[in-house]
Amino acid sequence: MRDDQLTIRQQIMQQITGMLYSARELSVELGISQSQVDGHMPHILRSVSRDSSRLFVMESSRCYECDYEFLTRTRLTRPSRCPQCRGKKISNPRYKIEWREWKTKR
Ligand SMILES: [Zn+2]
Repeated sequence: MRDDQLTIRQQIMQQITGMLYSARELSVELGISQSQVDGHMPHILRSVSRDSSRLFVMESSRCYECDYEFLTRTRLTRPSRCPQCRGKKISNPRYKIEWREWKTKR
């Protein structure tokens, strides 16, 4: 793999390794659109879950109005509406890749 020419997907994976980022933050960081980030995320999730040395972590979205937390949501994108108060002010979920320490030392 060429180090100087990482694909967008690899750049995202590098970015979220060890640190939480939302799709919006990633889009700013990498200079791509948020929907591009959303498009890559499911593939990243899939490849990380195939890799036993790493773990994909998602911080759930939360409603700003009533503090409802979308803990059971499995989709990676931001929900459009709160089921509890019907509010639309909802935080972006954030993603992170963690190394499983028993396997890899970093
Ligand atoms: Zn709410």
